Amino acid sequence: MDYSSFEGVSAAEILSWALSTFGDSFAIATSFQKEGMVIVDLAARIQPRVRVFTLDTGRLPQETHLMMDAVRERYGIALETVQPDVVEVAEMVAARGLNLFYQSAENRQLCCEVRKVRPLMRKLAGLQAWATGLRREQSPGRAGTPKVEKVESGVKVSPLADWTDAQVDRYIAEHNVLTHPLYEHGYASIGCAPCTRALEPGESGRAGRWWWEQDTKKECGIHISAEGLVRRA
Ligand code: SF4
Repeated sequence: MDYSSFEGVSAAEILSWALSTFGDSFAIATSFQKEGMVIVDLAARIQPRVRVFTLDTGRLPQETHLMMDAVRERYGIALETVQPDVVEVAEMVAARGLNLFYQSAENRQLCCEVRKVRPLMRKLAGLQAWATGLRREQSPGRAGTPKVEKVESGVKVSPLADWTDAQVDRYIAEHNVLTHPLYEHGYASIGCAPCTRALEPGESGRAGRWWWEQDTKKECGIHISAEGLVRRA
């Protein structure tokens, strides 16, 4: 199938197609940032029982757990949480410490691999298609994000790929979409508590993620491994 034909298709139409094509083998991955919540809201209007999952890394801020409760209550969905392997985490922490990510880029990537990438891969093995909140505006590495693409793990759907910040904010305002409480505290991108901070004056985008790293791309790897590509998004 030529997925490039989805380029001119709206986010709601893409989600409608994914839901009807893949049924329960389609799920939305979200960390409860604005984009993910817009996708959940759009999809729930089409299919109220849409599957939604999140990676519970074990290092999430309490505000994200509060969002999980709020999403369950708002949409009445059985939010699926995906945990890392406890043995892998225990071995990593025993060898390198709980806060290993501050010590080196290699340690940070290992932690993301154990707590995010491998759990995601295990989850995707049970799905045919999944949706992400990637947008081309978010970073240079995401500028080429297709709306629908065939990747090693299945079909990856990014319905908001061509949306602007303003479009996301407008949808949220018009539909009273739930928003993560940390946005009110200056966060622009939200992940694990020890690796995410509010933006400082003049900073933008993903500068609040892994801020102590100077020479690495601000990605955890889930959009690399899931694609089976060497591309660093
Ligand atoms: Fe570990 Fe930080 Fe990556 Fe979370 S964001 S998995 S705490 S390195």
